[in-house]
Order: sequence, then structure tokens, then C-alpha cells
Amino acid sequence: MSSQITYVDVILPLALPQAYTYAVPIDLVPFVKIGQRVIVQFGKNRFYSAIIKNINHKKPAVDAKLIETIAEEEAIVTETQLKFWKWMSEYYMCTEGEVMNAALPSGLKLSSETKIRYNENYEGDFDTLNEEEFLIVQALRAQQEIKIPQVQDLLKKKNVYPSLKTLFNLSIAVSSEEVVEKFKPRTVTYIKLNEKYEDDEELEKIYAELGRAPKQVELLLAFSQLGKKSKFIRKNELLALSKSTAAVLAALVKRNVFTEFKMEVSRLGNLQTAELDSPELSAEQKTALAEINQHFETKNVVLLHGVTGSGKTNIYIENIKEAIAEGKQVLYLLPEIALTAQIINRLRKIFNTQVGIYHSKFNQNERVEIWNKVLHGEYKILIGARSGLFLPFKNLGLVIVDEEHDNSMKQADPAPRYNGRDSSIVLATLFNAKVILGTATPSVETYYNTERGKFGLVKLDKRYGGIEMPEFVIANIKDDTKWQRMQGSFTSTLVNEVSQALSKKEQVILFLNRRGFANYQVCKTCSYVYKCKNCDVSLTYHKFSHQLKCHYCGYFEKMIDKCKSCVAIDLDIVGMGTEKIEDEIAELFPTAKVSRLDYDALKTKHGHAKVISEFENREVDILVGTQMVTKGLDFDHVSLVGIINADQLIHHPGFRSHERAFQLMMQVAGRAGRKNKKGRVVLQTSDPAHTVIYNVMNSDFKRMYETEIGMRRQFQYPPFARVIEVKLKHTKVQNIEQASLYLANEMRKTNTGKVLGPAIPFVSKINNYYIREILIKSTVDSKKLLQTKHALQQVLDKMKTLPDIKSVSVSVDVDP
Ligand code: ADP
Ligand code: ZN
Repeated sequence: MSSQITYVDVILPLALPQAYTYAVPIDLVPFVKIGQRVIVQFGKNRFYSAIIKNINHKKPAVDAKLIETIAEEEAIVTETQLKFWKWMSEYYMCTEGEVMNAALPSGLKLSSETKIRYNENYEGDFDTLNEEEFLIVQALRAQQEIKIPQVQDLLKKKNVYPSLKTLFNLSIAVSSEEVVEKFKPRTVTYIKLNEKYEDDEELEKIYAELGRAPKQVELLLAFSQLGKKSKFIRKNELLALSKSTAAVLAALVKRNVFTEFKMEVSRLGNLQTAELDSPELSAEQKTALAEINQHFETKNVVLLHGVTGSGKTNIYIENIKEAIAEGKQVLYLLPEIALTAQIINRLRKIFNTQVGIYHSKFNQNERVEIWNKVLHGEYKILIGARSGLFLPFKNLGLVIVDEEHDNSMKQADPAPRYNGRDSSIVLATLFNAKVILGTATPSVETYYNTERGKFGLVKLDKRYGGIEMPEFVIANIKDDTKWQRMQGSFTSTLVNEVSQALSKKEQVILFLNRRGFANYQVCKTCSYVYKCKNCDVSLTYHKFSHQLKCHYCGYFEKMIDKCKSCVAIDLDIVGMGTEKIEDEIAELFPTAKVSRLDYDALKTKHGHAKVISEFENREVDILVGTQMVTKGLDFDHVSLVGIINADQLIHHPGFRSHERAFQLMMQVAGRAGRKNKKGRVVLQTSDPAHTVIYNVMNSDFKRMYETEIGMRRQFQYPPFARVIEVKLKHTKVQNIEQASLYLANEMRKTNTGKVLGPAIPFVSKINNYYIREILIKSTVDSKKLLQTKHALQQVLDKMKTLPDIKSVSVSVDVDP
């Protein structure tokens, strides 16, 4: 009979090299299916959610444990997704478990390690809970957080998952990893007039009765007026519109005039906006749309190369409509920080509730809800950052990758270190879906693919509504320094331009890609530079908090007035950051209102949205920001953009530095002069003759591309080679040296690619870990690339068996 036993191979959310086999208890056999989530024991006392990869009857070599339970009857991962996970793990050299980890929202990854907390924002009651669920709630409320084994002790049974699931679904419990943010309440309180008073006579009676309480009369009147459209009204709305107070309302509830009740709203928001027609396309846009569709007859991927403000979004909208009309789903990827209310509202106005958003701002319960809605086809369009491509699409028809060149499309850490653009093209292939890559500044790789005919190319050279491209002005930092015309970080040219813009009541954006106040603090006497104690970097001075901070590990110390080394008191702050620019500009233009948008502003709750909306509403005249100001924002009254330090963008390590510098400057320039008229861009630089500056000045993408592609061909970089970057980390210098030399040498012996390094990176130590980098260059030939990867994997496996070396942590980044 043993041949009758059913086994499942499952993927665990861990970096395990292979799938693990479990046996299925006889009573669960009829229910197991591929893609289903099961709970399994792994290791001595640990439990994980795992995904069934396949089902068979082959007895494994080692005795298989039984699965504990099935998490839900339905398969939450589709077979296409499993294929996609497999591809991703192979291409990016990681495990399927790591892909699973990135793909599933934490709410679906419940394990014995998960810390569970009571959701303090929960507003509902516990009436629907059974005894066990209620027991858990009591425990949650009594303790800060608990783990699943404690719940098992509490209920005196092993399978506590169904109860926990209920609590998660109701948002009573949350996993502690997430910050519990009051994003949208799950229940909303409504006010209803007691049925008795629908009768006019009764109503009059009560008015008479209330005569001595004028405020209650007022509220009741307000309700009668507002309530004409519906029988009930949101409590907050009623209070706001009637300008009444909760106490007055409570009095009427007590008198039984009103009843209060709660209604569940989807956490994803219920939009009441009426469907709007999308705007009529201009002649150029119509042509572009037709060209896209024409390319789609022979090609799967089209690059829409349109300058900022050319109306790419409106073209996407037409393509989305077509896909939906065919009953297909659409994935719309954007850089995370471009996922602003602006773009979401534009799409929601047209597609209403068919639009879902997958965003890091949503908590895990919400993400699970979105996951299920995609799985069940309730959402037709999904807007998301790169991780949106992990959603369980049923029948994807179109993928849009907006800002395809953006480096946030690439995940740096942890594994899978995937590129969202490239991966979404693979995903689309699995569905036989089409892909539109949109940008004003294509990546060199993508443009090259259009040149060799792999992708279609469609261009939009004009901004919508005849708005002209901005005019570029050079401001020479070297000259101004020589003639002592600099005012802090500002050239006389930029100061003049700002002053003119402000006098015309126009807005200004100042762009600097470095946050904080200054780069570092240095002692004028002994030249001591304040460095991080964990990393090989200098600390950045943050004026607002009066701290010196490390941007790599978060270490900070209080700023002191004496040098730590020689006790001199003459300290100098060198370099600049957004905070300093904010300070300087406020001093130069004391009457202007200045605000700042950078990573520090993001961290404060609603900070980001608030800064943007204040700028939109023209409550702020000058916005100082990092590259966050370059993305997805559409301001109508910005006439001037100042790039504070172009040199700093250009002179960056890495083979993509010139491409990136060009892209960033063009993107930020695109914020100037949108609706009303031609904008101006001031470029501050010490090197006006630099080729990147020249290309930006002329908005010459083609020339930038030609120069870059020439270099890449000559020095064999992508798209002419494939690069694999290996990073090694260890706390001891000796181990890191030994391991990196070993790896480089062994790789050289395999003869499967050119090996560069080991090199000591620019920042050689982070968080007390020494770092070394090795670059392996393979060819674009997929068979040869595979050979390189296999060779590398073998070397890595071997390293795990060697003393001194095996403790070194290694990360592999394919297509860095
Ligand atoms: P892009 O994404 O190419 O930068 P957008 O799609 O954001 O450009 O369009 C820029 C601006 O022009 C937006 O304010 C948009 O509403 C407007 N616009 C573009 N095309 C049209 C159109 N056909 N009708 C009306 N407004 C348009
Ligand atoms: Zn540090």
C-alpha cells in the first residue's frame, strides 16, 4: 500500500537549494493541489507556510514528514507563477524559496517565527469570534507580541492556523514586521434616522420635544437635508457638514432618534468618482498609438520614447482600454516613489474600481486582499512598484513599464536581485502578453534592443499642447569661485534666475542628489574627519536634528563643538546636502517659502504627500529635493529648475554613471515649464565642456546613446556582455581577503568569463563588515552565460566546505 502514499514537493520561504518532500495525511489527499499553501514543520520546532510545487507518489530517499495542514483550500499561487519563480531563481542565481519570499505578502507567509500583535487600530467588536479565536485575542491584548508556538500552547493544539487566519482577515491581528499604520479604517460608522421618524408626524413631535436643545435641532435638520439622497450618512461627514459635535450626536442617539451602525468598507478604498472619459488624443498621440499597435503585430515589446509631458500616460490608457475590452488583465509598473496620488487618481477616474494598487504603504492584510482580488480577476489593472509583477495574474494581456530606465526597477537586496523591467518581459512571454516600455530617457540596453529590431520603437518628440522644451543655462562654478561671486552653493546666475522666477510668482525646484546638511565635518586644526564607527564613510551632518549620521548603517552621534581628536574647537563643515541648500536659499530669499523633499521627509508619516500637495497648491515657492522630485510629478507652475551640482552626478563610479547622470538631469529638467510656458533649467557645473553636460544642454539623447554604446562595445559591458557581480562580506579582513582571492582564482580557472578583481569598493566597510567585489563578464550568448553561472555555483558550493572561507557571506547579482 505504500505506493499509495501521496507526496508533495514544497517550496519553503528560505534559501534552500532544493524543494522538500512531505507526505500528505490521508484525509487531506483529496484536497491537495499545486500552488496551494500548506503548513509544514521544518527543523525541530519550526513551522512555515510552504507552496506545493508538485504532487507525486514516489517514495523519497529519507522518510518524509507529514504536512501539518492545508492553509486554504484554494491554490493561491498559479502554475504560471511557479514557472516564473523557477525562471527567476535560475536567471538571477538564487533559490525558489527566496523568490517565494519576495513574491508573497507576509500575510501569506505565516511561520513559527512570525511575531503577532494586536492591531490597536481595530475598531470592530469580537462578536463573530469563536472561543479559541477570542482566547488568542485576549492573549494578544495582554502581551506585546506572541509567536505561533505560544498560541499552540495556549490552545493546547498544533493546528492553530485557521484561528489565526480569521484574526488576520479581520485585521484584529497583524504581524509585527509591519508598522501598523492607520491607512484607511476597515469599518466606518454611519448614522441612520430611526424608522419611527420617517413618519412626518413623529418627526414634528420630536422637533417640538427638542425645542430646548437648539443644537440637537440643528443637527436633526442638517440630517434631514443631507439624508434626502440616502437613508444613512457617514458619521464624520454628518458632523463636518452640520458643524456639530460628537456630544450633540450622542445625545440624539441616546434619545433613539438616530442609530449608529458600522459598515465594513474595503480597506482598499471605495471610490465614488463617476467614470470619466479619457482625454481625446492629440494627432501626434494618435499616430504613436497606431504605431504601437502596428509593432505589436510582429513584436512583443515596444519602447515608447516620449519626452516628459508628451502624454505617454494617455497613450497607455488607450492601450489599457483595449486590453480590458479583450478581457485581459494589465500590469502597470512604476518606480515606487512615482506611485503618487496623481497617477493613481488619473487611472482611477477612468477605470474606477477595476484598478488595484500594490504599494509598500499598504499593510500586509491589505496586500493579501489585493493578492486575492488579482487571483479572482476582480482587479483588471494593477499599478505597482516592481514587486507588482509577483501578483497572481490569471490572464495578463499587457504590461506597462513606465520609467523603464529607472534604477529602482532593479532590486539590490536581498535576493532575488531582479530587474523589474527585464523580468516583466519574461512574465509577459509566459502569458503571450504585450509590453510597453515608456520613458523620456531610455536605458542604453533598451534602446539598443530597438536598434537591432528586437523591440519596436515609437517616438513622441513634442510635449502636449505645444509646450516648448525647457531652455538650458550653464552656470560656471569655477568662474564664480574665481571671481568670488558664489553665494554659498549658489552661482550668481542661479541666484538671478531664482529671483526672477519668484518676482513673476512662479515656482522653483532645486535639485541635489545628496540629503543631509553637509557631506562631512572636519577639524581645521588636525584635519580629523568624523567617520562612522561601523562603516568606512564619513558622517553626514544633519542640521535639523543636530546630529552626525551614517547614511549606510543609520549610526548617529550628537554633534559636538570640539574635535574628538585634538580638542580644537574650529570645526568646518564641508560639502553640501539638501538640508544645507534649503538653509542657504531661505537666507538668500527670506520672504520665499521653502520646503524639502528627500528620504528624510519620506520617513515622517504623510510627509511626502504633504510636501507635494503644499507645493501643488502653491503654498511653497521653492522645493529643494533629491531625485525624489524627478519622478511622476506634474506641477503646473514651475518655471525654473536648478541643478545644484551636475559634476557630482557625473563623477560617480560604475559603467552606468554617464547614462544615469544624463537621465537624472533630463528627468529633473522635465519638471520645468509644463502647462503655461517654456521653463528654464540652470545647470551648475565646474566643467561646462563635459560631454554629458553638452548632451543635456542640447537634450540630445541620441548623441548620449551613441557615445555610450561605443564605450560599452569597446570595453565589453552590457548590452555586449553579461555582468555578474559577486559581493563578499565578513567581519575579519583576513577572511575576506582569503575568500575573495579564492573565488576570483577558482573562477579564472574555469575559463568561463573574464574575472575582474577582487576589488575594494568605494565604501569598503559597512556595519562592521568588510566588503570585496568581483566582477565576472560573460557573453550575451545564453548557453555560455549558463556555463558561467554553473561554474560560479560550483565554486560557491565548494567555498561552503572550506574552513575560514565558509563563514564569508556571498551575494550574487546578475545584471547589476
Ligand atoms: P508624460 O507621461 O509623457 O510625461 P503626461 O501623460 O503626464 O505626460 O501628460 C502631460 C500633461 O499633458 C498632463 O497634464 C496631461 O493631462 C496632459 N495631456 C497629455 N495629453 C493630453 C490630451 N490628449 N488631452 C488633454 N491633456 C493631455
Ligand atoms: Zn555606518
